[in-house]
Amino acid sequence: MGQLLFILLYGFTVITFFVGLIVLRKGIKKNRIDRLYFTSTMLSGAWSLFIGLVVIQTDPGSAALMRALALAAVFGQFICITYLLVFWSGIRGRMMHWIVGFAWMGVLLYPFLIRRDRMVFEKTAYGMAYRIKPGIWSGAYTVFCAAIAVNMIFLAVYMLRRSIRKREKIMACALMVCVFIVGFGCAFDTLMQMSGYMTFPGSTIGQFAAQMVLYQTYIFYNKSRVTLENMSEFVYYSVDEPVFLFDEGEKLCIVNNGATVFLGMSAEECCKMRMKDIFDMQHNVFRFQGSKNRVEAKCLQNGRSCSVSIDKIYDGYKDIIGYIVIVHDVTQHVHMVEQLAREKQRADRANEAKGSFLANMSHEIRTPINAVMGMNEMILRESGDETILEYARNIQDASKSLLVLINDILDFSKIESGMMEVVEEAYSLRMLLKALKTECSIRAGEKGLDLAFHVPKDTPAVLMGDQVRVRQVLLNILTNAVKYTMKGGVTLTVSYKKTAERRVKLTFEISDTGIGIKEESIDRLFSKFDRVDEGQVHAIEGSGLGLCIVDRLVQLMHGTVEVSSVYGEGSTFTVTLEQEVIGEETVGSLQEEAKGAGRRRETIPVFVAPEAKVLAVDDNKVNLTVIRGLLRKTEVQVTCADSGKACLERAAAEHYDVILLDHMMPGMDGIETLEALRDMPGNCCKDSVVIALTANAMAGVREMYLEKGFDDYLAKPIEGTMLERMLLRYLPKEYIIQDNSNLKREEEL
Ligand code: ADP
Repeated sequence: MGQLLFILLYGFTVITFFVGLIVLRKGIKKNRIDRLYFTSTMLSGAWSLFIGLVVIQTDPGSAALMRALALAAVFGQFICITYLLVFWSGIRGRMMHWIVGFAWMGVLLYPFLIRRDRMVFEKTAYGMAYRIKPGIWSGAYTVFCAAIAVNMIFLAVYMLRRSIRKREKIMACALMVCVFIVGFGCAFDTLMQMSGYMTFPGSTIGQFAAQMVLYQTYIFYNKSRVTLENMSEFVYYSVDEPVFLFDEGEKLCIVNNGATVFLGMSAEECCKMRMKDIFDMQHNVFRFQGSKNRVEAKCLQNGRSCSVSIDKIYDGYKDIIGYIVIVHDVTQHVHMVEQLAREKQRADRANEAKGSFLANMSHEIRTPINAVMGMNEMILRESGDETILEYARNIQDASKSLLVLINDILDFSKIESGMMEVVEEAYSLRMLLKALKTECSIRAGEKGLDLAFHVPKDTPAVLMGDQVRVRQVLLNILTNAVKYTMKGGVTLTVSYKKTAERRVKLTFEISDTGIGIKEESIDRLFSKFDRVDEGQVHAIEGSGLGLCIVDRLVQLMHGTVEVSSVYGEGSTFTVTLEQEVIGEETVGSLQEEAKGAGRRRETIPVFVAPEAKVLAVDDNKVNLTVIRGLLRKTEVQVTCADSGKACLERAAAEHYDVILLDHMMPGMDGIETLEALRDMPGNCCKDSVVIALTANAMAGVREMYLEKGFDDYLAKPIEGTMLERMLLRYLPKEYIIQDNSNLKREEEL
């Protein structure tokens, strides 16, 4: 019988230790409730084990030792369970300290309770039994146990009354049941021995039963807590996004609420479907490399556009056990993208319309300016009457301003459409600065302003860069400086710093003593069409485009432009550009008087070639007269044709070295004429150089003409020297009997 009782108690030990191990495996480090419950299972197991060992002892001495160990586990359990209940009940403050402190008081009783002389051991039918001799300690122990039971009932009642949550009330009831079970068990040992009977381990059996109830309470408590294990469940049901779980056979087995709402059917109905019934997918989307896949698909049930992410789920052996499919409804996003694409298309069309409007306008304006400037050029060349010459100079100034404005608009449209390119070539900084000085000194001279250029003599003279754009930037700022200065002067100071073996960082500082710029206006100085301080500047000619172009050009050349200004006193614009240095030549002195400051017309042609034959084709008779007039000094033989058809007739009859072919002509336009010319059999001009003449100077036209088969391109209004230079480049060298190009360049400077 004793053996059977031992086996029973030993079984209790195994079960409670096992429960403890389960708790341990789940990770008891997480919080104190887990740690306390684990300790409680260990102490409960020890309690059962040592009482079991008492039962099978034959020697009272060793039985007393086992009993002492069991009693240690009992007191430990009292303390542990008290803490557990305190935490679960949520009791705090002084009351908590009293209750916990009382549980610890058992330690004081312990030495008296294990004294051998107070114990009586006796062998009974159910093994070795014992009793404590009646007395003060045995009485104190019974009172202590009863008080512990009362404390626990108090904590359970406190929890029951205080808690507002159902789960806490259920836990409180369960704890009360535990106390009653243990109390009932105590009747067989703690109470019995007071009456002088030998004990039966009733409280040990009771505490085991209570421990099992406690285990259920602990599981129940954990279920109602957010833990890693149950988190996925909470998340699964709470997310609004549809979530589908497919098993390894690709059969849908679980859906969340989001999925049933999304598909508009019950969970059971959902689970009857396969992936291809839900989404419009051509191939099996579960077959993919890696662990994650994302596909775009339309839902067949509701027509929504979806972004579907598929994750493989693996078991502990890395074998696939299923797939989790999360659906993101991107219908709105797709609509938005489609709408944006439509808007972009509309904007592109509007932009194209703007571009072609600009091209047309530029064409329409350039055609008459071409005539005005060309005719005026001839008056300047041929008239001897000073009054007429003065009128002609005024016309020239006005048409140049108009041309600058149109060029600015064209440059701006080129920059905006990303067609502006920086073309790097070797250029002379010295020439560039001299040209600038010449150009600005005329305007400065007219306003009575001083113009000074300070350039260190050792500045490298030959650089690699886009001289056209460098010149445009500096000229723009210098022109502004002269424009917005009424008295005083304008100074350009150049400095340079070596940045590498053959590279320099050039700084151009242009200061004036003009009207200055208000501090608050400086920020918007470089924005499009913005003229600042309108009150002051509105009487001064300008479009507000110049500095915007300067800024973009400097950016294209990887440089910087900065402004500092004192309103009413003057401004300083600083441009820095990095350029490659070619050769050892230096700028030297720029001091010699800039030529051309007067208004003398240069009449020396760039070249003379009486043998050369040029065919000029334009539907506008004035333009033809202009070309003929501009080329008079070169002595080139100019033949005119006023249509594409006339051009072909001429070309069939005679060879021309260069054909200047207008683009926009009624009937056959320039491009069609060129195509016909190239294909025409018995053509004398098969190899002639054909140069497009056009008033269309929009971004990208040069490339367009070259692509169409033209050899080069000249924008109207045609400037005499430019036309001469272009012809010099293409006419056979043997026809050139006089080449003034170098002379002419110096003259221009
Ligand atoms: P605009 O054709 O009007 O001169 P810009 O883009 O060249 O256009 O200049 C923009 C504005 O910046 C001008 O309208 C003028 O108000 C101001 N500005 C530019 N340069 C100067 C300067 N040197 N002194 C004073 N104001 C200037």
